[in-house]
Amino acid sequence: MTVKLVLVTTTILALLILEKKFPFFAFQNSLRSRIANNFGLGAINSIVSSLFTLEIAHLDIMPPIDRGLIATIQSPVVAGILSFLIIDLYMYFWHRSMHIVPLAWRFHHLHHTDRSMNVSTAYRFHPIEIICSSIPKLSLIWLLGISSDFVLIYELIFTVIVALHHSNVAIPASIDRILARAIVTPNYHRIHHSQVVTETNSNYGSVFTWWDRIFHTQTDRLDIINIKLGVLDN
Ligand SMILES: [Zn+2]
Repeated sequence: MTVKLVLVTTTILALLILEKKFPFFAFQNSLRSRIANNFGLGAINSIVSSLFTLEIAHLDIMPPIDRGLIATIQSPVVAGILSFLIIDLYMYFWHRSMHIVPLAWRFHHLHHTDRSMNVSTAYRFHPIEIICSSIPKLSLIWLLGISSDFVLIYELIFTVIVALHHSNVAIPASIDRILARAIVTPNYHRIHHSQVVTETNSNYGSVFTWWDRIFHTQTDRLDIINIKLGVLDN
């Protein structure tokens, strides 16, 4: 918990400084109040999510299992890589379902209403979405016997990548493009936050971009600077 808190704080501070020094979009609207609201939501969500996870542990409805697919793999390296890929693939499908299922979109919609996307947007989620996403994720981790160490490694990397790809930091387009062959970059994710529906409903990846390529949900465009962020009805 302490490691994650230190990493989150350091990442946020570093990106806030970089956004100020090297901004991609020149936002004119009330960025400060947006940032305060988003971080406020993030704080509420982290408390809600911790309490929810603690409650599940307290109820002891998920006793440790040692016969899941991952738990039976002898090599920790193979088990770690597989765990990482499985959790990231789950995140891909979860995110995609948030866009496809109308009721789910009503909650995920909040995340997309930010028209001045910046590092704080990474924390702008409806608490109901945070709780609902935990249930299948915890169940999958439990069923496969994924160790808490592997979950923590995923969460630490996820935290940094998600904060980075929501940030308003201007990374040179050529570098962004090379990185986007493997990981979700700011330009790659800006397309997902476009007001154009076909673009919003694409680029669902959280850490790896491979899932979008495998499942044909990847969209590309070169004029990222012309993207209008947000959703049309907000
Ligand atoms: Zn989305």
